[in-house]
Amino acid sequence: MQSRRNFIQKLMLTGAAIPFMPSYLAAAEAENSKDGLSFSDDRILRVAIMGLGGYGTRVADAMQACKRAKLVGVISGTPAKIKNWQNKYGILEKNCYNYENFDQIKNNNDIDVVYITTPNALHHDETIRVAKAGKHVICEKPMALNAREGQEMVDACQAAGVKLLVGYRMHFEAKTLEVVRLRETGAFGKIMFFQGLCGFRIGDPNQWRLNKALAGGGSLMDIGIYALNGARYMVGEEPVWLTAQETKTDPQKFKEGVDETIQFQLGFPSGAVASCLSTYNMNNLDRFFLNGEKGFAELQPSTGYGPIEGRTHLGPLTQPHTTHQTKQMEEMAGIILDGHKPIIAVDGNEAIKDLKLIDAIYKACKTGQKIDV
Ligand code: NAD
Repeated sequence: MQSRRNFIQKLMLTGAAIPFMPSYLAAAEAENSKDGLSFSDDRILRVAIMGLGGYGTRVADAMQACKRAKLVGVISGTPAKIKNWQNKYGILEKNCYNYENFDQIKNNNDIDVVYITTPNALHHDETIRVAKAGKHVICEKPMALNAREGQEMVDACQAAGVKLLVGYRMHFEAKTLEVVRLRETGAFGKIMFFQGLCGFRIGDPNQWRLNKALAGGGSLMDIGIYALNGARYMVGEEPVWLTAQETKTDPQKFKEGVDETIQFQLGFPSGAVASCLSTYNMNNLDRFFLNGEKGFAELQPSTGYGPIEGRTHLGPLTQPHTTHQTKQMEEMAGIILDGHKPIIAVDGNEAIKDLKLIDAIYKACKTGQKIDV
């Protein structure tokens, strides 16, 4: 089988890479060659999905187009769903587990990684059990309910010698990476301001996303995390202070501890500031705006399933759309199997940075105080 490295090298030799290969891929290739890492396309990442709901299904469908990642197993509490998935994706009986017996996955040599797509509150315990079974973990965002839980998950994976990655699909998205690349070349000048607006109107009041025990909060845990995480990768620094305010127009639907709308502001060491909005009560709110002394970038939509659209002061962003979850799983195969370094981190420590800020945002909403982070 021809390796991706060989393929890219051939493209480069013929000069054909220039129109086809996005700049960030070239940068990643250069970075990984520098580290002496090599692409080894002969291995495929064999994935079991835990939690066969909406997002798990999206990941499973997207993985059908992957060359380096393959869905081979499932973990679910619903036997009928397991049967459906076996029929749809050709999953073998011996790779099917439930929530009682999935620790036995440790004896299964056909599974490399478990991708956890269950409600937020379950991620902590499930990650630790998977790690103890000796399998790598990909966990959905938010990785945990708070930074303490997140640290326990990172520690458990480290102790077990397995990798912990988080489903930050935007970290592999082409237009997003082009903005990051342009910022690093100085195209926008000194970065001064970021605005991240993320929200949608949530439906069924009885769903787990509106249940504090399962969601750990409200819009911030679910959708506002995109603005928070985006502020960090768009500005390219870690915040040093924050302020936050919560507003609630429907206390019946959004019970105590479940935020409907939060605005938060972040201050960065360079002096750049960010102003963000997270809400469960506005549709079509999905916009990033970055401004420096010399120019700007805007993405709208900025974090939905795409295609992402955007432009800078230099012109429109034209990088082609690929299904986010397909791209994510291809890249994660390279990270897990070959030790590749992504341009924007997707590991457990990256998620802890978001969780610490989420803890501080909830605290700032309660106290009204500016918090040093
Ligand atoms: P969902 O409700 O559609 O699916 C959750 C699944 O977990 C269901 O199959 C459900 O049966 C199962 N489950 C197992 N134990 C459960 C329990 N005790 N209570 C309730 N359900 C239980 O939710 P979803 O939209 O697929 O979200 C799952 C996770 O994926 C969440 O953490 C969410 O934040 C994340 N997510 C990420 C993205 C993304 O773009 N990265 C998008 C959507 C969801």
